[in-house]
Amino acid sequence: MSLEFHENVSLKQYNSFGFDVSARFFAVLESADQLNDVRAFAHDNDIEVLFIGGGSNLVLAADLDQLVVVNRIKGVQIVDGQNGEVLVTAGGGEEWHPFVRWTLEQGVYGLENLSLIPGTVGAAPIQNIGAYGVEIKDRMVSLEAFDLETGTQVCFDCCDCQFEYRDSLFKSRFPGRYLITSVTFALSREFRPILHYGGISQQLEARGITSPEPVQLSDLICEVRNTKLPQPGLLGNAGSFFKNPVISVQQAEQLQKDFPQMVVFDDKPGCSKLAAGWLIDQLGWKGRREGDAGVYEKQALVLVNHGEATGADIIELAGEIQADVYKQYGVMLEIEPRCYP
Ligand code: FAD
Ligand code: NAP
Repeated sequence: MSLEFHENVSLKQYNSFGFDVSARFFAVLESADQLNDVRAFAHDNDIEVLFIGGGSNLVLAADLDQLVVVNRIKGVQIVDGQNGEVLVTAGGGEEWHPFVRWTLEQGVYGLENLSLIPGTVGAAPIQNIGAYGVEIKDRMVSLEAFDLETGTQVCFDCCDCQFEYRDSLFKSRFPGRYLITSVTFALSREFRPILHYGGISQQLEARGITSPEPVQLSDLICEVRNTKLPQPGLLGNAGSFFKNPVISVQQAEQLQKDFPQMVVFDDKPGCSKLAAGWLIDQLGWKGRREGDAGVYEKQALVLVNHGEATGADIIELAGEIQADVYKQYGVMLEIEPRCYP
């Protein structure tokens, strides 16, 4: 099936902030076979390509003089291996949360802590999505991607992807070069719940659950997330706007002396992680708004669009928060979503 290209299309319904910017060219991809059409069109029109999935980790600050391609490549496949290990492959355009729930329905476990993260399977490796102590790198075996530069399909093993905290080779080293067409996960028929993180075990205790079923754990995570995070359909946002800063243990110890209440977690050797939300909250930003750009009232890490804010307004607000945090704590917050153009 050949691909249809459209001109001057509004991206309002394709990004979770709801910014009404337009794409000069636009197409919806249904199959990996159509990727050569994308490459030829970009070449013929001398234009860059931006692949998007659910648009839930983007800040679109102005109209895009680009070809925007929405990934809707679907399909799931499941293969039982030895000792209860199961390989599951999903098309990059599958929606993440329904995919997670589908694995649970198949009696296959390992993704429950990543329940209710918006977006697509193909975008999940881009920033090595993570929540409640699990990251996609812990469950991924390999992925298939189309290389826009060479026009070939390439396979990456998990270790090729250079996964870090909310980062990968696709995000930092080769942004825009690869379109992830499918991802393969190693999951398990045996349920091994991870409960130590972010108050999950306390939440279970409070409900009188000592040994949760997989769906119970997924449901609980959905419930907790729904109480803390704004739903993009109701209030535009891109989840956490800043990464949690990872600093040296020495710097963290000094900060804890100056600010004894500061929230600090152990990280990789020699490093500590600060809770960015705590830093922002302490400076009184929670719930503040400048025009329609605001800081979510229940979670200081999330910036929101109250209606008519633009991407530029959100980036300006983010800059003020970064400057304030830097002035007080000497720590520069890094923006998590990708900003365009
Ligand atoms: P998009 O926003 O469409 O794209 C994000 C980036 O990936 C862009 O640079 C885009 O070019 C690129 N991209 C997208 N698809 C592909 C592809 N197939 N191939 C190559 N490049 C691609 N993130 C977490 O890690 N943990 C969370 O708990 C979490 N919670 C969130 C909660 C809310 C309410 C929201 C709004 C966001 C949250 N996020 C979270 C961020 C976001 O959901 C994830 O980063 C998600 O993986 C983005 O998927 P997407 O399909 O929407 O990507
Ligand atoms: P939370 O549970 O209130 O925790 C606050 C912060 O503390 C989180 O950022 C988390 O870091 C950190 N944390 C909690 N327990 C920890 C532990 N045992 N060890 C190390 N660090 C710990 O956070 P929340 O805002 O409600 O989010 C819950 C989970 O969903 C978190 O994992 C968060 O990353 C994820 N989330 C991500 C986004 C996004 O857009 N990226 C949006 C919403 C939620 P980490 O962030 O490093 O996990």
